[in-house]
Amino acid sequence: MNFLSKIISAFKDHGARPAFCIQNKYYSYAELESIVSSVQLKINENCGNEQNIGIVLHDDIETYASILAIFISGKTYIPIHPGYPAERAGQIFEQAGIKYLLAKTITDTYSGVTTIATGEESPENTGKLSTSSFSLDKTNAYILFTSGSTGVPKGVPITYFNLDSFVNAFDALGYKTDHNDRFLQMFELTFDLSVMSYLIPLCKGACVYTIPDSGMKFTNIYSVLTTHKITFALMVPSVLANLRPYFEEIDLPDMRYSLFCGEALYKDVVAEWMRCVPNAVVENVYGPTEATIFCLTYRITDVHNISEYNGIVTIGTPMQDMEAIVVNDSYKQLPEGEKGELCLYGNQLTPGYLNADKTREAFFELDGKRYYRTGDIAFKNEDGNFIYCGRVDHQVKIQGFRIELSEIEFHLRAITGSSNVVALAMNAPNGMMQISVVFEGAENDPEPVLETLKTKVPPYMIPAAVHFVATFPLNTSGKTDRKALQKMIE
Ligand code: AMP
Repeated sequence: MNFLSKIISAFKDHGARPAFCIQNKYYSYAELESIVSSVQLKINENCGNEQNIGIVLHDDIETYASILAIFISGKTYIPIHPGYPAERAGQIFEQAGIKYLLAKTITDTYSGVTTIATGEESPENTGKLSTSSFSLDKTNAYILFTSGSTGVPKGVPITYFNLDSFVNAFDALGYKTDHNDRFLQMFELTFDLSVMSYLIPLCKGACVYTIPDSGMKFTNIYSVLTTHKITFALMVPSVLANLRPYFEEIDLPDMRYSLFCGEALYKDVVAEWMRCVPNAVVENVYGPTEATIFCLTYRITDVHNISEYNGIVTIGTPMQDMEAIVVNDSYKQLPEGEKGELCLYGNQLTPGYLNADKTREAFFELDGKRYYRTGDIAFKNEDGNFIYCGRVDHQVKIQGFRIELSEIEFHLRAITGSSNVVALAMNAPNGMMQISVVFEGAENDPEPVLETLKTKVPPYMIPAAVHFVATFPLNTSGKTDRKALQKMIE
């Protein structure tokens, strides 16, 4: 049974049970089905044969119903964050050829696209979905846009086959979850970890608990974990950095699965966290958007014996129908123990970016298999686990958001006309990562530049600190010495 058939079965089998809890309001599977059916009618009435449909994201049931209606119609969703600057949203509409957007109410309007309000029920709605069989293999289920180093976001299409392969591989991991489970959904829907967090529970008839848009995110997460006795939570490790001062008081005996993904997981923090979740299986999972949500997993079976490198927990072994190898600069596979670039192959791999040039740069063939270069440095240890060691490029993660530092530099160069500007990911005093930028030259007021930057990139890419250095230090090849620069401003 594919994932869509599983969700349709959940509508039938669990009608009275809760599917979502959004801002403390529960929606049963029967209510969800009715809203999905209403949205589907609106899509049919308004969008004709358009394949790619945008969804303006809000923490409401209509947003999730729109995703499901798009899936059940065999179309492709593209999440649009309302906080995106108009220019960035416009680049996404153009690349994905989006003509229609779905939103609960028409508050966010964009030029050149028609917004369809999903909040008012369609008069013809029967409340029941009419569905046939699904065989959508090569059709895209969604397209996510990640930070692109040349200033334009990069579109990653994920097909129904990719997504179904993820769901099957997830099931093969053997987690014992069912309709009684309560899943946390802490991610923005522009981040693919959100897809696991809503899709897996819906395939099982379980309930999804979302995090409110407003207020302090980490306080909201803690509140949902405790109030609703969450049993399955996939989170980014930066949640732990925020909760760490309160670990002594945190006790979550109902948590059965506590997974971390999206950035390096540190052994000392996770070992302390395990005391807060005494009954949970704790895992570090790994994967880029290009390989559908996650595709390697490592289970911590013994808190005193965590496989790690430089304090970072290993990312483990590939999931079903996925393969990982480590290669050198000439794409030659390296033996166990040797560090190189981690490359992925298998059923969860995107067919390629929307931009063919980007695809050529990131994929290569080896022994008849098409591999994706992750940009992550890794090696395989004697236990067969892959060890994450860092990045080959300037991609960083800030609270789970994937950011190309060169994209920030690109925009700052264009705004200021200055060629010497460097963006760095730095440790803030609270242990969290933040972005700092350094301009070469005399100090001046950075506010006007930051204001313009806000019209180009999402809020999480805006630097927290700006520095000026009279002359940049150079390395032996005459290039800006980023490490030395970092030390200078630390
Ligand atoms: P994204 O496409 O946003 O999912 O980002 C993918 C990147 O996040 C990977 O290439 C890694 O650099 C990083 N990442 C994801 N999971 C982990 C993990 N468990 N440990 C270390 N880095 C991770």
